[in-house]
Amino acid sequence: MTDQQVVDQAPHQLFIDGEWVDAENGATFEVRDPATGRVLCEVADGSPADGMRALEAAVAAQPEMAASTPRQRSDWLMAAYDLLHERIDDLALLMTLEMGKPLAEAKGEITYASEFLRHFAGEALRISGDYQVAPAGGARFLITRQPVGPSLLITPWNFPMAMGTRKIAPAIAAGCTSVIKPAHQTPLSMLAFVDILREVGVPVGAVNAVTAMDAGGVMEPMIRSGLARKLSFTGSTKVGKILLEQCADKVLRTSMELGGNAPFIVFDDADLDAAVEGAILAKMRNMGEACTAANRIYVHESVIEEFGDRLARKMGEMRVGPGTEEGVQVGPLIDEAAQEKVVSLVDDAVSRGASVLTGGSAPDGDGYFYLPTVLAGVPTDARMATEEIFGPVAPLTPFSTEEEALTKANDTEFGLVSYVYTTNLDRALRMAEGLESGMVGLNQGVVSNPAAPFGGVKESGLGREGGSIGIEEFLEVKYVGIALP
Ligand code: NAP
Repeated sequence: MTDQQVVDQAPHQLFIDGEWVDAENGATFEVRDPATGRVLCEVADGSPADGMRALEAAVAAQPEMAASTPRQRSDWLMAAYDLLHERIDDLALLMTLEMGKPLAEAKGEITYASEFLRHFAGEALRISGDYQVAPAGGARFLITRQPVGPSLLITPWNFPMAMGTRKIAPAIAAGCTSVIKPAHQTPLSMLAFVDILREVGVPVGAVNAVTAMDAGGVMEPMIRSGLARKLSFTGSTKVGKILLEQCADKVLRTSMELGGNAPFIVFDDADLDAAVEGAILAKMRNMGEACTAANRIYVHESVIEEFGDRLARKMGEMRVGPGTEEGVQVGPLIDEAAQEKVVSLVDDAVSRGASVLTGGSAPDGDGYFYLPTVLAGVPTDARMATEEIFGPVAPLTPFSTEEEALTKANDTEFGLVSYVYTTNLDRALRMAEGLESGMVGLNQGVVSNPAAPFGGVKESGLGREGGSIGIEEFLEVKYVGIALP
């Protein structure tokens, strides 16, 4: 299929109560290709009333969903897994067109997204309880798990499908209905996935999708309505804090996957080849637009020059261009604002004394590209030491002792992931225990895995997605006290 055929074939409407429908007022918004700035299509611009209709459909479908068997829910997820793989080429092209990432990475994301379906298809079958004798006798405890209920799911643009399946799969596995709102920049991948759920026979109203330009205006009435029981959000810490306040009103269960500021620490005893490879993965996956992206790279002073040269050579060789072109490794950033932010962060670091080892600018021409960049000697007062860069920029800072590395790494309000490269086992364990983050990559530059608990501490969030714990986010524990005199 051509690019346009792939775009035209994806749904462009709201999915409410089992039907694809226009926004009530007929409004639409544009979706653009970040590699060219060209408009790909128009998508329904849902209103607050559309959002409430979607939530009411989820509420109405909740009893049927809760009564479905674990085997049935597992089968829906596996059928969706199969269809994602059958259609992976078209879906990857669709994702690259709306989001920008190179085709190979888009395929990688769809595979990753599908693994949440397979993982939670298994977890659906393992929801368990307990039976216990009261310590003083005279009673028994029956402990069981039930679906939390209708859930609101909000996802960002950087992983347009995986951030959605990471929520929808455990919600279905647990027997929860949902309304998902994808980011306005990248609605098409999620709408295509929701259509797959329709095809595999997920009950009417069990999954609904609302796209909107005014995310806050549409979501707030749903959150405050008292009809939803849960909000699962992936996005910025700033928006996460607003949503936590709104959720307090009706005491919604919350899962918050928020921003990061990952330290990447290379000790003098590290395997430098592996550390450079790991840094490229941790930095350049998704053009640096990942919450897990290495944001601060601390390298021991005795190896920093060697490490910087090797990293700069490899990053400087990476091919930049539209993600649809064969061989491209670095696509455009999501939009003009993202490009401007990276430009200003690099300019700020350079004005404070950092030097450019490679890159350091946005290339001329269409699209929101930025060259893979390595900066040496980035001072700790540079803005990029505390702000998420969300671009292909690797800032290097030297350290001399293990204690200094740990202190610098933990000197942030974020705590999603940290990376450590060392061949010293004692040091590796000391660092893994001392780092204030929900996840640590030891001698590896990617930690995401659907079978592992993903999530952060401090202002990086609340709760975990994936792993055997991921389904717990959508389950309530109920205790039944039974008299047995
Ligand atoms: P964002 O601005 O917070 O947006 C995330 C989602 O929230 C989008 O769907 C957005 O809709 C919606 N939204 C924005 N304002 C809202 C409001 N007032 N009420 C309800 N929903 C609202 O974040 P982003 O720029 O898309 O994504 C990048 C951020 O996500 C980064 O900070 C990154 O670290 C984080 N992230 C975290 C994880 C993780 O697992 N921890 C994973 C990926 C990304 P619209 O886009 O339509 O406005």
